[in-house]
Amino acid sequence: MIYNSLNKKSKAAEFPEAVVRGIAPDRGLYFPEKIHRLPDSFFENIEQESIPEIAFQAIAPFVEGSIPENELRKIIEETLDFDFPIVPITNQMGTLELFQGPTLAFKDVGARFMARCLGYFNRENTSQKITVLVATSGDTGGAVANGFLGVPGIEVVILYPKGKVSEVQEQQLTTLGQNITALEVDGVFDDCQDMVKTAFLDEDITKHKQLTSANSINVARWLPQMFYYFIAYRALKKINKPLVVSVPSGNFGNICAGLMAREIGLPIDHFIASTNINDVVPDFLSSGVYTPKKSSPTISNAMDVGDPSNFIRILKIFGDDFESLKETFSGYRFTDDETREALKEIHEISGYVADPHGAVGYLGLKEYLKDHPEKYGIFLETAHPVKFLDTVEDTLNIKVDIPERLKETLSKTKESIEIQDYQGLKNFLLR
Ligand SMILES: *Cc1c(COP(=O)(O)O)cnc(C)c1O
Repeated sequence: MIYNSLNKKSKAAEFPEAVVRGIAPDRGLYFPEKIHRLPDSFFENIEQESIPEIAFQAIAPFVEGSIPENELRKIIEETLDFDFPIVPITNQMGTLELFQGPTLAFKDVGARFMARCLGYFNRENTSQKITVLVATSGDTGGAVANGFLGVPGIEVVILYPKGKVSEVQEQQLTTLGQNITALEVDGVFDDCQDMVKTAFLDEDITKHKQLTSANSINVARWLPQMFYYFIAYRALKKINKPLVVSVPSGNFGNICAGLMAREIGLPIDHFIASTNINDVVPDFLSSGVYTPKKSSPTISNAMDVGDPSNFIRILKIFGDDFESLKETFSGYRFTDDETREALKEIHEISGYVADPHGAVGYLGLKEYLKDHPEKYGIFLETAHPVKFLDTVEDTLNIKVDIPERLKETLSKTKESIEIQDYQGLKNFLLR
């Protein structure tokens, strides 16, 4: 499979090159040249197939020619080795839990898939390691670090702002050891991000090191998120109603993968982008004008994005046709107060403890279903409520159980290297 840059100025790349580069040299996002539809018979019999088999059929055309079938099957088995349960909330909706992975965030799937692809591409090249350099404000770093843990030929360097991530997040970043190093930066997230960007352009470093990024625009992180939507459809087909999915959205990678799943044939009736007050996309859907904004902090902070990078891919999927986009795709925005009310409402009607991101998804779905009572909906639960413990416990007046795997992480000893500035990062990389 060939990938083109959406900025149209760089050469096309095969899947491995697109993965190692992350972004094209012209700063455009990579997009597959062709989209293969799966046959109707595949969807007719989908309930009989295993999840790994379905995942394999969905993604194989996108990596064609770069990973042999047995290797790809192994990568998928390892990526999806936890559960994706659907919990009923009302008789018209349920929630698909995507947070049962090792770091309790849905980003585990993309991070694990990408890590294993890179590991495969670098399988014979263990002397020239690939260095994955990531700046994190919290969640991404943990999923990436965990996904790459122990993958041969890959070293991971994570920059995080000292004192600005939660205790759970810091433990997830700093206690893994092996090929993962956490650099604790005296500054804020933007400083970490700037240092990473500078390093990518610094020839003193790039002469000696093959650097790559692991953010959500990478095709190997984006595309495996299609699996969630296949899992949902397989489980809910028997209900025999048009299926609607509400996705709590920030950088719009997850929902864009859902739309891609639909492009290859998955019968999902409608998608809902649910956002917090960082509402560039809902605003675009009502006004027709895309206006990036500076992001504002909220209690669903993994969605505090003012200019979602993947939205351009969504436009591409719809051939830049605004009207056809609006037939399949709606967007709603909600305030923190509404989100807290939703946490309470979900708990009251079903006993379910959602996290603030899932609660935003719930609100978007509820809004849409008001006008479409004949449909069935699910909202995606993108993080375990324990990751937003204070908000959830204070709002619901309950204690959230800490999962076993998190207790283990919390009991480990933190190891990090403190750096003051860019020179500190450079010294570390060239050590
Ligand atoms: C990253 C993240 C999101 C947003 O996903 P996008 O693909 O960036 O839209 C939503 N919820 C949680 C918990 C996240 O970590």
